[in-house]
Amino acid sequence: MSNLKHYIEGIKNGEGFFDEAFKLNVILNALCIIHAVYAIVLFAFGYSFLGAYAVGTAVFYQLLRILIQKGAYRTIIILSIAEVWIFSSINEIYLGRACSFAFLILGTIPGVFYFALTWNIYKNKELVSFLFSLAAMVIYSGLYAYDVINPKSILPIKRYMEIVLTGYNYLVAFFVIIGFLMLLHWDMAQKTTSLSHKNVALNVEANRDPLTALYNRRFMDQKLEEKMELLQAEGRIFGLILCDIDNFKKVNDTFGHESGDDVLVNAGRVLMSGLRENDVVCRWGGEEFLIAIDGNKKITQDVAERIRVMIEDMVVVSHGYSIKITMTFGVCESTPGFSIDKLVGIADERLYKGKQNGKNQVVTE
Ligand code: GH3
Ligand code: MG
Ligand code: MG
Repeated sequence: MSNLKHYIEGIKNGEGFFDEAFKLNVILNALCIIHAVYAIVLFAFGYSFLGAYAVGTAVFYQLLRILIQKGAYRTIIILSIAEVWIFSSINEIYLGRACSFAFLILGTIPGVFYFALTWNIYKNKELVSFLFSLAAMVIYSGLYAYDVINPKSILPIKRYMEIVLTGYNYLVAFFVIIGFLMLLHWDMAQKTTSLSHKNVALNVEANRDPLTALYNRRFMDQKLEEKMELLQAEGRIFGLILCDIDNFKKVNDTFGHESGDDVLVNAGRVLMSGLRENDVVCRWGGEEFLIAIDGNKKITQDVAERIRVMIEDMVVVSHGYSIKITMTFGVCESTPGFSIDKLVGIADERLYKGKQNGKNQVVTE
């Protein structure tokens, strides 16, 4: 029971998904049941011809279901709508205006709009919906004109029969209208949800480096802007670590490019594991990473030193090789008034100094 509730909630929120074949099956079965009830009522009232015709329509809707497998959705929809129009017209003509069969024709208008606007079966959706609706109105008005000219029904009818048939026709038209509006709403909710899921996925993709899954330079630039604003507004200091894998070209040359990639991925994981929640690490370039640390220079230096040791201790097993690497780190602290480029430039100078001084070290001055 709670499963069902959850399922219905999902549909309401646009998470459930029914394909077109499923919806057509449900609609055709519903039409079949509706017409079977017409058949029972009409037979019960002694209208055997109209009752037999209603049985024929119920069978017709079951036969239309065969076309679903063939994907002939447009044919099914046109035939169903035409059938409702013919069924309503014949009953209206035989039983008269008081039974309200013509009302069913108006009920097809939301259906026409639903299929034309949300299913990709017509090229000119708006024109098709308008023309179908116009045709429905013309038939509806034509029946009214017929009833005015011929006020007496072809078949004799009693008052209670008029009330029963009018009641049922109103009920059917009411539920058909509401049903199609709900379907329209669910389809739109489902499309919105799937679009927003795609949006989230696109955003994640746009911010990540595909190889290491670390943030990319684009995202880091945004983060650094934010950190700069916080520094100016609240004086919140941050530290930068620019680090680069030592002799990485040799790693590629010795173990192959794929192993080089594995080293990058594993180095990225180690960098991430060495940080706290508010710190941000990104792949700044090929084998270069930029880390923003929530803290002053001393804290940043400690983090860099900790990561340096973790990298030094790391063994990457790739394609049968056990690969060890080291990294060199340039550290600096944010200074109000300095641009981001200038700060990164300072970290880069220190990184360069470390490379000159023998690599595998943290440089802070
Ligand atoms: P140093 O210690 O001075 O940093 O020397 P290095 O060899 O690490 O530096 P260099 O700039 O000479 O070489 C960097 C190499 O990194 C060259 C490039 O092919 C490699 N590289 C850059 N991006 C990738 C990548 O995505 N995958 C792999 N496997 N290698 C990469
Ligand atoms: Mg390098
Ligand atoms: Mg480099």
